[in-house]
Amino acid sequence: MQKGTIGVTTNNIFPVIKQYLYSDHEIFLRELVSNAVDATQKLRTLSGKGEFDGNVEDLKVRISINKEEGTLTVSDNGIGMTGDEVDRYINQIAFSGADEFLNKYKDNANAIIGHFGLGFYSAFMVAEKVEIRTLSYQKDATPVCWSCNGSPEFEMTDCDKAERGTDVILHISKDESEYLETSRIQALLAKYCKFLPVPVVFGKEQEWKDGKYVDTDKDKVINDMEPMWARKPSELTDEDYIKFYHAIQPGMEDPLFWIHLNVDFPFTLTGILYFPKIKNNLDIRKDRIQLYCNQVFVTDSVEGVVPDFLMLLQGVIDSPNIPLNVSRSYLQSDRDVKKISAHITKKVAARLEEIAKNNAKEFEQKWNDIKIFIEYGMLSDEKFCDSAMKFALVENVDGNFYKLDDYKALIEANQTDKDGNLVYLYATDKDVQYTHINAAKEKGYDVLLMNGQLDTPFIGMLEQKIEKSRFVRVDSDVIENLIRKDDSKNEELSEFNRTIATEVFKSQLPKLEKSEFFVNCAALSPDSQAVVITQNEYMRRMKEMAQFQPGMSFYGEFPDSYNFTLNTAHPVVENVVNKAVEALRDEISPIDKDIAVIEAEIKVIRDQFKDGEMPEDKKNEVEGKENVVKDLKQKREASIANYANGEDVVKQLIDIALLGSGLLRGEALDRFLKRSVDLLK
Ligand code: ADP
Repeated sequence: MQKGTIGVTTNNIFPVIKQYLYSDHEIFLRELVSNAVDATQKLRTLSGKGEFDGNVEDLKVRISINKEEGTLTVSDNGIGMTGDEVDRYINQIAFSGADEFLNKYKDNANAIIGHFGLGFYSAFMVAEKVEIRTLSYQKDATPVCWSCNGSPEFEMTDCDKAERGTDVILHISKDESEYLETSRIQALLAKYCKFLPVPVVFGKEQEWKDGKYVDTDKDKVINDMEPMWARKPSELTDEDYIKFYHAIQPGMEDPLFWIHLNVDFPFTLTGILYFPKIKNNLDIRKDRIQLYCNQVFVTDSVEGVVPDFLMLLQGVIDSPNIPLNVSRSYLQSDRDVKKISAHITKKVAARLEEIAKNNAKEFEQKWNDIKIFIEYGMLSDEKFCDSAMKFALVENVDGNFYKLDDYKALIEANQTDKDGNLVYLYATDKDVQYTHINAAKEKGYDVLLMNGQLDTPFIGMLEQKIEKSRFVRVDSDVIENLIRKDDSKNEELSEFNRTIATEVFKSQLPKLEKSEFFVNCAALSPDSQAVVITQNEYMRRMKEMAQFQPGMSFYGEFPDSYNFTLNTAHPVVENVVNKAVEALRDEISPIDKDIAVIEAEIKVIRDQFKDGEMPEDKKNEVEGKENVVKDLKQKREASIANYANGEDVVKQLIDIALLGSGLLRGEALDRFLKRSVDLLK
């Protein structure tokens, strides 16, 4: 019998293992089963090389629980270990530079364990004593038994073991007794070992007999040795993919698309990623990709391995290049892992491009469901964006889909403004913006529908990507101004008529909370609408973007400002204005004249003195005159309002404009309806 102390550094490692891995105790099972699987795989490799001539047909790993003894055993019939090997692999886990490493990573036991192949020692997280009984595959090997109670002291003796392979027997600690429960172990095996490449046996198959389930003689294999992602895409049907999806993501609708990754170079990576059908935001979860390393489940927090925007996808990724057991921060800084991430992006883009090309109809049909993934990707990943510009679609208000290039070609001739900018018109609500959409269509323009969750930032990004382009919402200006074709302006009203017109309407516009209206006159085409309410593109977008960027929230506080444009070339407006001018001229002209005279007088006084040198009596005089002007202006305003208030046509025009922009509601809407009927009398 041999007694000894486990390699020097374990003095440090045991407490680290126990203390820091507390929350993750369950991974011991993954570690031990993985070791067992490795042992069988190694034997198969040796057999393949002709270095082992025994039977490798029935290689398997078995997990068993003995409740009376309080033990959990992981057995395999793999290569086993000789006494020397136990000494080398289990006892001497001392490494050059280990102390230094330990100090550096002492807060991160996962990194230590993964890095230094301490997988076996994770058994001590749940066991007060661990035994190894092993018989090497080598001819004339003697079986060896090893045991250790968690202190750095171990015992090792020759012993009896007839079968080749290794049993690792865990004497489970009192406070870890959950690991003696069949259901707990079943769940852990399902989580970590479901796709291991060697049969993993836990318990027996059961059958229904005499009114209850009883064990049969047949071992129960808990894993699928050849999972979908490890198979060739050419062997698989759509049904296979969909079935597998439901197996790993229960409770979801059928996926929209999937991508079977199969990379050999410059690293090995397989996997299947699914685009889920998202019914609502609750379905968006970021922990739906499972990461495997040689079919051993590693984690489902794939941050860093999978680009952020693809974390909305679901499925599995398997790569031996992804280190087992390392911490998140380690993963993110790992260069291999970074390359993997970039490569996955490339593959996904290439596959989407292929689908868009070969199954264009299907791609269009599903576009509205996958759009959120693609827009998110384009916004967050420059490389993906460049590829996606080739296949991303836009939809117009008539439900037609276009690739960006095709759409550009479609509108180029008609929607380029006088400065050579291509103007993309869009709507966010087909019903509310109907009049504006219609006006644009009558001009022969095309209008996109941009009502997606990410469309506001997406539009901003497209403007950056598409040279000399501008996106303008159809209701952000009168149609003539949306795409300015020339500088010529139609004949404008005289100053007097313009102010009368403006103020007549201004006096009757509603006082809405957090909204302001700016009235302006424009001689548009007589066929255009008489009155239009538009919302400045820039301010509106700033407010919308404020929702996405915390630092911009002050924009959100601004009132909504609307432009109320009177088309003075429209016959109805012309009539209203002429009538108002007629009715108000005699009353307003003298007031205007008085105001002008007094303002001139004020100016004369002011001009006589430099800033701050005006004597007191002059100051009083100016103040008095200013008050007179103020009174006159109030009088003027009141007269105009009084007149306008009696003009149903003015009110009607205002309400029509409000209606056209979805702003007429409640009591105001009711008044409008009643007035409309009255006007018919
Ligand atoms: P790692 O598996 O990362 O190398 P472990 O501490 O889990 O680290 O195991 C150390 C070594 O012990 C393994 O590399 C292997 O050589 C040996 N070993 C562990 N378990 C077994 C087993 N069941 N059969 C044969 N050898 C084993």
